[in-house]
Amino acid sequence: MTRGRQWEKVEKPLLDLLFDCSPHPTLDIARKCFQEQHIQDAAISVAEKVRLAGNDLHGTGPAHYDGFLVGAVGIGLKPSAGRKNGYTWCAYADHNTKPHQKDTKYCGEMRVMRTADEEECICFVGIVVVGNLRKEDKTRTLHPCEACRALMRRKYRFLFHPTTIVLTATPGAKIREVHTVEALMNAHLERWP
Ligand SMILES: [Zn+2]
Repeated sequence: MTRGRQWEKVEKPLLDLLFDCSPHPTLDIARKCFQEQHIQDAAISVAEKVRLAGNDLHGTGPAHYDGFLVGAVGIGLKPSAGRKNGYTWCAYADHNTKPHQKDTKYCGEMRVMRTADEEECICFVGIVVVGNLRKEDKTRTLHPCEACRALMRRKYRFLFHPTTIVLTATPGAKIREVHTVEALMNAHLERWP
């Protein structure tokens, strides 16, 4: 059963566009839909909204102690409740947290992968990350961090196909990069799978 999740309203406009693209997606169709520009734009917009929500979490202050906020959204398929052997769209958005310097970081991507696992998502066609670069980053946009990439390769490997797209963008999406998950790993000199 699907229970209410925190970012469902934020995810809804993206899901609406995905259902418009295909009401009964197969994996092949889902991949094609996610290649469409307006769908990638909508996914970035969801990641931006959830990222900015981290600025003031329920009036309790920012989600990150020094303002390093990152929004992520995973887009994929899960078994359809109504159609035997059919699939339906799913999209999960979240942001990172590290409220105090002493706290352990928890990335938006980590939450998105955990939720997808809990919600029985079978595969991501895309995962989108929006955030500013850190000092140590040598990439043009913020990529999933080393810890997230290790989770992608191991614990949540089942969510990724070599063709899963990792779309990373700066806030405002002036710069964006599109990698397959395999190319992302290779860019960091890591093996896939
Ligand atoms: Zn991370």
